[in-house]
Amino acid sequence: MSTNPRDSHAEALRFENVTLEFPGTHQPAIQDISFRVARRKLVAVIGPSGCGKSTILNLAAGLLAPTTGEVYFNGERVTAVNSQAAYVTQQANLLPWLSVRANIGLALKFRRVPKDEREERIAHWVKVVGLTGFEEHYPRELSGGMQKRVAIARALIYDPAIVLMDEPFGPLDAITRLKLQQDLLNLWEEQQGTLVFVTHDLNEAIYLADEVIVMSQGPGTVHRVLQVPFERPRSIGSLVESREFSEIYNDLWSLFKSEIDLSDASA
Ligand code: ADP
Ligand code: MG
Repeated sequence: MSTNPRDSHAEALRFENVTLEFPGTHQPAIQDISFRVARRKLVAVIGPSGCGKSTILNLAAGLLAPTTGEVYFNGERVTAVNSQAAYVTQQANLLPWLSVRANIGLALKFRRVPKDEREERIAHWVKVVGLTGFEEHYPRELSGGMQKRVAIARALIYDPAIVLMDEPFGPLDAITRLKLQQDLLNLWEEQQGTLVFVTHDLNEAIYLADEVIVMSQGPGTVHRVLQVPFERPRSIGSLVESREFSEIYNDLWSLFKSEIDLSDASA
């Protein structure tokens, strides 16, 4: 092991010819997937439902093992749960019996961070994600957007080497979604950690990411990797109005068009 794995590799995550076949199924969920995620990059994985996006995050988190091929994190093979990865799953997965404060502080408690420091960091993150005044509330008392904020704060608070997010804003309404996307941009641009997130939203991929991994399905493979050249800090508002945005959107759209049969509206 290197002394400081965060600084010793330019590359955070690497998939090498990864195939995963779930037991009892007749075709692999993903097949021969290879890609690299450089450190401090924000990478989107996009593709139709069922193409293996969540499977890829589960592999990166070490919750699944490839049938063939290898997954590397900071140059080392992932063979068990990747403790350097914070995973924000599709459902917020907050602990219902704990307050917002306690949910956000969970990782610090596990890591035996002293109480004073813990309280200080929790207070900071409560403010960052805009939940001041809700510290003592329980998850059931929060809206979907607020629960997502708690989940994101809970993941980022311990400064993980990589953050994995599965459709972070999936179930939210369009306005809340835009707001949280901009918040995440601001947060990430301040922290500059490595972040890999899954989405099926073309706009979301372009707003946020440096690089978009486009997947196709049946079985899931990497179709193309697209660079998003927008400067940072980004503002979604001005991105949307730019000509470059529509160009990239059209590029991305053309990759999907062939896979979607728009003539069948009942599908
Ligand atoms: P996505 O996140 O892109 O919607 P998933 O990664 O969840 O796709 O799933 C990819 C494929 O693997 C799908 O066809 C899904 O039905 C299948 N799959 C996922 N998990 C399991 C499992 N535990 N057992 C069997 N098949 C699974
Ligand atoms: Mg999924």
